[in-house]
Amino acid sequence: MSKQYDVVIVGAGPAGYVAAIRCAQLGLKTACVDKWVGADDQPALGGTCLNVGCIPSKALLESSSRYEDISHTYADHGITASGVKLDLAKMMARKDKVVSDLTQGIAGLFKANGIKWFQGSGQLQPNQQVKVTAHDGAESVLDAIHVILAPGSSSVEIAAAPLKDDVIVDSSGALEFKEVPKRLGVIGAGVIGLELGSVWRRLGSEVVMLEAQESFLPVADEQIAKEALRQFKRQGLDIRLGARVVSCEAGNKGVAVQYQDSKGEHTETVDKLIVAVGRRPSTNGLAADEAGLLLDEWGFVHVDEHCRTNLPSVYAIGDAVRGPMLAHKGSEEGMMVAEVIAGQKAEMNYDSIPSVIYTHPEIAWAGVTEQALKAAGTEYNVGSFPFAASGRAHAAGDSTGMVKVIADAKTDRVLGVHIIGAHCSELIAQAVIAMEMRASSEDLAMTVFAHPTLSEAIHEAALAVDGRAIHIAPPRKRK
Ligand code: FAD
Ligand code: NAD
Repeated sequence: MSKQYDVVIVGAGPAGYVAAIRCAQLGLKTACVDKWVGADDQPALGGTCLNVGCIPSKALLESSSRYEDISHTYADHGITASGVKLDLAKMMARKDKVVSDLTQGIAGLFKANGIKWFQGSGQLQPNQQVKVTAHDGAESVLDAIHVILAPGSSSVEIAAAPLKDDVIVDSSGALEFKEVPKRLGVIGAGVIGLELGSVWRRLGSEVVMLEAQESFLPVADEQIAKEALRQFKRQGLDIRLGARVVSCEAGNKGVAVQYQDSKGEHTETVDKLIVAVGRRPSTNGLAADEAGLLLDEWGFVHVDEHCRTNLPSVYAIGDAVRGPMLAHKGSEEGMMVAEVIAGQKAEMNYDSIPSVIYTHPEIAWAGVTEQALKAAGTEYNVGSFPFAASGRAHAAGDSTGMVKVIADAKTDRVLGVHIIGAHCSELIAQAVIAMEMRASSEDLAMTVFAHPTLSEAIHEAALAVDGRAIHIAPPRKRK
């Protein structure tokens, strides 16, 4: 009996929808099941990323940055603005329009590629079948040769801070505040806490961040994390490390947050509280028990390096499998799996996936950190260059931060690049290309970069690996 579809994909976030488009490009008959329903009660493609993640958060980061600039930094350029007002409802409406334009764009791409979109919840059954429960409760079964599971992730909730209406919220709630909270608490000084904490601080909130760990951003390079903490504190983000939240009580006067640190127990009262303590895979009920899909102890779908699960012809990608929870990581996995299914040789390099934190300054990196190399006993050389010595950064009036290039001591191959500074979300792509091409720091040093650009800082940092940076004084020689 012939199967209805070559491929059925469960989930249309950046992992699932990219997989669907690539499958269709490769001539595979493709269907995608997604259960997302937006605030307007309409089904929408794009998953967390487009609806409540990457895109709306960046829209608000952009708007809030402009508000802060016009209020505080334009004067340095000789531009004075009076009567600056914040129209939060309009800012939010703009963000919503950005989201709906993009989600509709994906719907258009599905149509143009002949992908069938099923609106409802999908559940894996034995023998590559997927049961679809539509939003009205109607059930149907799709029969496929291959299934790709891309259900994504959802916010972790903690017993110490249960969500409450629009007062104690997760990241989605923090994108929807109707007014600027006077005093805002954030539990977790990770990526979401820093980005959304920055949005509301720029718009006028006093922000207190309670972070359980003693170290700040341990995933980033230590030197960069230290500089980031210094900059965020200067901006007024009140980041308290080693602060473990014990309980929260929401009342008429806001939320009383009780937390413990090395000095004892404290209570902090805030108007709104964001809980941003991580995300977990959305795999509950994803597969019927009889299907026999193997999950690990954290609920991630168990996969090999080609994203194959323990079941024949069933793959899993994106936030629901091991690796960083990043949109571009899931999308690349989607492309790889589509190509594997089409019989092509495809693989993915997990070593140079870039990470970016879209604060100001931005933080971006790819490859390994110095602390990881030290722990592994690998010998390496480092070159760094401060934006304070960059002509373009000075012209822009924004010269905080630095670029750091780490190269293998024996081969000179670039092992990691770490940047803190304006626009480094764009700069990091150059490092990723260099690393994908297995470039050495010498290759970067020999490349001609346009002047004046922020990218020149990468060139100078690569030159600095060998003590040849031009626009900084050489290290003092010991007498
Ligand atoms: P998701 O985007 O979560 O999509 C999964 C889809 O599957 C959803 O539509 C869901 O409804 C659907 N689904 C789940 N189960 C089923 C089922 N059983 N049946 C049918 N449908 C189902 N990452 C970045 O790289 N850059 C950023 O700047 C960034 N910013 C972020 C900001 C915020 C506030 C948040 C919360 C996340 C951010 N992320 C960012 C992370 C990024 O959103 C995720 O890594 C990415 O969305 C994961 O993609 P995915 O396709 O695996 O899953
Ligand atoms: P995270 O892991 O980045 O940070 C969570 C923080 O909360 C950690 O520092 C952790 O120590 C702290 N924490 C955990 N429990 C706590 C507690 N009880 N009290 C106080 N602190 C506690 O997670 P996130 O910020 O929620 O983001 C989730 C995921 O979404 C991340 O993995 C990230 O990859 C992705 N994301 C990416 C971007 C981006 O790429 N720019 C933006 C947002 C989210």
